[in-house]
Amino acid sequence: MSFDSHETHESSQPTQSQPITLGEYLENHDDENFYWNDVDREVDEAWVGPVERAGLHPRKHKVFHHKNKEYLRPPLPFIQHGERLGESGSTLVYRVTSPVNEGHPHPYRRTLALKVIICNDNSRPPGPDSSVRMKALEEVRTMASIKHHHLVKYVASFEDYCISTHEVKRRQKARAVFKVNQQIKRHILGIAMYPAAQCNLRTLMENIIEQPDDPSSHESWDFLHTYFGCLAQAVACLHRTNVQIRHKDIKPENVVVDDFLLPVLTDFGLSKHFEAGQHSSGPTAKTLKYADPEAIHETRRDERSDVFSLGCVYLEMATTLLGKKPSFAEQELMGEMPSGFKYSECLDRLDGYLLTLSRIADSITDGRRESAQAVKQILPHIRRMMDEDHRKRPFAKDLYPLFRHLYDVTTFAGPCVECENERMASTCSSRARSPVLTRPTIGSGSSGGGGGAIANTPIVRRASTLTGMVVHSSPIDMMDGIDTTSYEHKKCNGNDNRDDDMGNGIC
Ligand SMILES: [Zn+2]
Repeated sequence: MSFDSHETHESSQPTQSQPITLGEYLENHDDENFYWNDVDREVDEAWVGPVERAGLHPRKHKVFHHKNKEYLRPPLPFIQHGERLGESGSTLVYRVTSPVNEGHPHPYRRTLALKVIICNDNSRPPGPDSSVRMKALEEVRTMASIKHHHLVKYVASFEDYCISTHEVKRRQKARAVFKVNQQIKRHILGIAMYPAAQCNLRTLMENIIEQPDDPSSHESWDFLHTYFGCLAQAVACLHRTNVQIRHKDIKPENVVVDDFLLPVLTDFGLSKHFEAGQHSSGPTAKTLKYADPEAIHETRRDERSDVFSLGCVYLEMATTLLGKKPSFAEQELMGEMPSGFKYSECLDRLDGYLLTLSRIADSITDGRRESAQAVKQILPHIRRMMDEDHRKRPFAKDLYPLFRHLYDVTTFAGPCVECENERMASTCSSRARSPVLTRPTIGSGSSGGGGGAIANTPIVRRASTLTGMVVHSSPIDMMDGIDTTSYEHKKCNGNDNRDDDMGNGIC
């Protein structure tokens, strides 16, 4: 394989191992420096054809072929660094770099997150031209097309498979009609993405409360104020008409925090059908904790289902900013519920909890008073986001102006330049409803009040001092306790019952 650098980007090589913000990564088209060569590449039309039809470029997506069909063990062909970032069911997440390619002076050195989905199948799997594989490849292509400074960036992908010779002989004796190259025993899909996370939002929030004297906790607390706006812009991007993706699993574990303390939404775009067996037994309680009422009751949904889940996450963020553990929300809302907490089943207690938070905010009189009052202002917006009736919830594209005033109370973070630029470029007339920013915009030398233009000079954010945090708990909590199942089972029965009107995540 090769991880050659394109000649036009060669000058950037010496600094490539250093982390850069996702915004810089996108601006530099850094992902184009990574591409696959043809060594060990599968050339069988049955495998290559669907890749081409899905619109995936062979430089970016490679199907590995091995003459002896020895299975490629994850995270190969990448090199793992540190602990595995996450593992759940048959999905593994690693922090990786590309292998040093002997004979080539410029391997791609950027640290990436690698998600590997392993599809075990002891029963009859589909062929390479199966609809399940085709759907997954199309979704990888959709994911590859998305560029946003708060959405994890696809860099490259690969597949590997092996054939069960035993399976072939047995089926041949039985005069089965399957072709040899369709007797797939195992199949993996790997997706390399940028950035690799420092931690996820849940870990960050828990650290803020559990280690209040740690300087990094104060820095995290400061940046957390900006996450409301940034995540709103990320979800709004997914919902945009030219993208039209519903995330359907927004939760703190799916918000990763990069080296610069910037939030990046992950685990979107890929159909859950491809992730072996995830929904064979229906969503787990963990999945449903942040799920919208429509998902629970299997009624009609639209993209505001994501807004509900985002509202739940915001509720925990607000709780954290007010000095309580994120789990405080669950404890207060749970009441007499036996187990399996779901926000959607506690909405009758939500107003009472918001009143509790409001009182906590008013009781804060120290240096965090300004923050507490700013958080108090957003509670009604969170309430609307969590409305039981999805038609009463705001759309994601309208959320950002409601949370901009939180920039005012930050010391280190300041306004998010990319999100502010995006707001200014937006055609929506949201400025009138946007609370006035009283804090001078960094780099502008003038007040940013009333939605004034953001500084042209980008904020230079240094890499965070965050260290020692547990990186990613389980990235795919929904898979807990679910056995892997066959392709055929998923193909026939794997429809996510939360996705009644949306199919595979594409609007
Ligand atoms: Zn932002």
